[in-house]
Amino acid sequence: MKTIGVLTSGGDAPGMNAAIRAVTRTALSMNLSVKGIYRGFNGLLTNHIDDFGLRSVSNIIGRGGTVLYTARCPEFIPIEGVRKGVKTCKDEGIDGIVVIGGDGSFRGARDLSNEGIPCVAIPATIDNDIASTGYTIGFDTAMNTAMELMDKLRDTTQSHDRCSVVEVMGRRAGDIALHTGIACGATSILTVEKSEEYTVKHTIEKILNTQTSGKHHFIVVVAEGYTAGMKIDANHLAKQIEEATGVESRATILGHVQRGGTPTVRDRVAASRLGYHSVELLASGKANRVVGFMKNEIVDFEINEALEMKKEFNSELFKVAQTISI
Ligand code: ADP
Repeated sequence: MKTIGVLTSGGDAPGMNAAIRAVTRTALSMNLSVKGIYRGFNGLLTNHIDDFGLRSVSNIIGRGGTVLYTARCPEFIPIEGVRKGVKTCKDEGIDGIVVIGGDGSFRGARDLSNEGIPCVAIPATIDNDIASTGYTIGFDTAMNTAMELMDKLRDTTQSHDRCSVVEVMGRRAGDIALHTGIACGATSILTVEKSEEYTVKHTIEKILNTQTSGKHHFIVVVAEGYTAGMKIDANHLAKQIEEATGVESRATILGHVQRGGTPTVRDRVAASRLGYHSVELLASGKANRVVGFMKNEIVDFEINEALEMKKEFNSELFKVAQTISI
């Protein structure tokens, strides 16, 4: 292995830049050359690729987003697209690639590996929705952003004796909802994983019960992917709560603001560690692996094995949330 490529793909997450920097610097320290591939797998189809030196990644560790840009690249899903990418790698002298992204991006990395370009993937997604790792880059920053915004909402909610229904990100995982719900003292947290046992009806009951003990303002956190047979829109949920409880209710959808911002210490350190280990794996001849954390130790799995794992929801934390939000 003489030259490695690095790319960011799929949804962006704060800390991707810290991972790009760690990959670049680790590779250069091993006397490998580095090439930055732009806009995810698209860069392999459009030849948008630059040589990266030590200073190419200066002053990026604290920046949100990704200096390599990111994209979804449907052309890369059929095998012809992957083969075109392989040809570009051969033409550019790229012997292996570190792919930074979510589980969609892992599939692209697996396909490239299977076609002869060794890849190692780094989990980066604000949702923390990947089973093969206890932590994904961007999660901590996104949670802190959501928490700060919710704290501000709380001030106005409390002043008006209202209920705020706050939709946070998380299409398949309720981790952001659960953690920020606890951190902001939410009365109720509606998540994808507990959608059958903890419903809108329970939320309304909880508000009515806490009203009797003198509570006048309420925060209800709902994960983006929460459904009860059908997608539950935050505005609709606020209306339902208002009708059932008489408490004036407003919906706020935090949206993409949760994706941005300067990464926290945790994200910068996690990205640096994963970046370092991904290059170590590639340099030692490993391919088709995804790195991650288990109990704060670095682990790696074969990509298909990782994709087949089922993520466990933290039911203990959910119970804590329910117990102390009375
Ligand atoms: P994320 O990586 O955040 O989960 P996506 O699911 O959009 O985001 O995937 C990002 C990119 O990874 C896709 O646009 C595509 O280029 C590639 N990809 C996704 N699924 C596959 C697949 N099944 N096979 C090959 N490449 C894929």
